[in-house]
Amino acid sequence: MDLQYVSTRDASEVVSASQAILKGLANNGGLFVPTFIPKLDVSLEELSKMTYQETAYEVMKLFLSDFTKEELQTCIQRAYDDKFDTEEIAPLVYADGAYYLELFHGSTIAFKDMALSILPHLMITSARKNQIKNDIVILTATSGDTGKAALAGFAGVEGTKIIVFYPKDGVSPIQKQQMVTQAGDNTLVVGINGNFDQAQTGVKQMFADAQLAEELDRAGYQFSSANSINIGRLVPQIVYYVYAYSRLLAHGKIAAGESINVVVPTGNFGNILAAFYAKNMGLPIAKLICASNENKVLFDFFQTGVYDKNRPFVLTNSPSMDILVSSNLERLIYRIAGEDTVKNAALMRDLVAEGRYEITPEMKEQLADFYGNYASEEETGRAIHDLYDKTGYVIDTHTAVASSVYAKYRQDTGDDTVTVIASTASPFKFARSVMGAIDASYQQMDDFDLVDKLSEVSGVTVPKAVDEIRHAEVRHKTICEVEEMPQVVRDFLK
Ligand SMILES: *Cc1c(COP(=O)(O)O)cnc(C)c1O
Repeated sequence: MDLQYVSTRDASEVVSASQAILKGLANNGGLFVPTFIPKLDVSLEELSKMTYQETAYEVMKLFLSDFTKEELQTCIQRAYDDKFDTEEIAPLVYADGAYYLELFHGSTIAFKDMALSILPHLMITSARKNQIKNDIVILTATSGDTGKAALAGFAGVEGTKIIVFYPKDGVSPIQKQQMVTQAGDNTLVVGINGNFDQAQTGVKQMFADAQLAEELDRAGYQFSSANSINIGRLVPQIVYYVYAYSRLLAHGKIAAGESINVVVPTGNFGNILAAFYAKNMGLPIAKLICASNENKVLFDFFQTGVYDKNRPFVLTNSPSMDILVSSNLERLIYRIAGEDTVKNAALMRDLVAEGRYEITPEMKEQLADFYGNYASEEETGRAIHDLYDKTGYVIDTHTAVASSVYAKYRQDTGDDTVTVIASTASPFKFARSVMGAIDASYQQMDDFDLVDKLSEVSGVTVPKAVDEIRHAEVRHKTICEVEEMPQVVRDFLK
């Protein structure tokens, strides 16, 4: 039977996998979820002998059931190739009592590459399957990481164009340099005179602009979104949990069927939801440990059953987790509401109207497999420092939040189950914060000197993604006002 996708807010909106990928978001703001979670149909022993690409096929074929074998394998081969600097794609590194699953070996050295390197291929395949003749135009507003990962994924992919808006003064110097040097004739990067919220609102308005859509259609284009609620991003993220388990098995670190725990530094709840789906596919995962930074909405939610975004927004050194509304949590809420779209939609209305909602005790009982905690800025810095001191292994600030929360979990529970920590960014991407945690005196150095120093202290070569932007030519110089965003899009597509 073909697996279909249904909206979390309207049981009558049911689409195929390829349609869900093309649409991104369901009507009325709902998210597409699979009508059931398929079970792995190969044994753990068989998986332990597979490459990353083979594992990806075994997992993704179950969710993207309207893709042919050839279509899906082609997407996988094009995504997980030598853009990654290791054949393992997602290696496991043991340090001080836990396995770090390094998800940062792709072209922008953060975990978003794991999904954004395959999404463009899933999208053009989906367009072809649904007889769509238009080119797909990806519109994105970014606060830094997603924009570059999406650019790298879509650059040069035939049948697509990508336009990224970033707040001119709201991203780090390295993040900005990464974006404005992006190659590829189908790419456009634009700074706006405004903040991230204004960029995001401007993009949302363009998506909702019927006249613009009609104009584009006449010119042979249609918009789509690469943001993290697209199931084309969620499904590829399930793969690396299965792969991590199978590596542990292959290396004799666990017995087949033995449970592991996973720890995930969480922002939008996409990465940890993928681990939850992996567990529901039959992968032996015991605890899903959700790590937050000082924006600890999720920790409070797991404690109290109340999701409340009415609080100050804290700017931390793990900026990709600075989020007060974790969009993907809705998929879990839908699930623990008994897949009841009416109940879920009511809670989401509360969130919009009051900035908060409260789940029932029956719903909360179903969250027993989750453990939430958070790390302060100081604890995060200390986690980097202490791990480096003890082992010489250097982790980034986001991974350090997870590492710190895992230490709290061990302390709270005494649970010594084999544990995988999702390592979501290369320390080179956040060299300033990382080096500052190792030794405060490094703070004086400039960004690229810090990168070289980090290479020296960690014994890791500077990744290509950082090295190549040092002297790369700036190719994108457009700056515009918020109101000018639609005109910039029209000009580019002319
Ligand atoms: C996006 C991101 C996260 C958060 O992942 P979610 O899926 O949004 O929970 C964590 N770390 C890094 C480095 C990221 O880029």
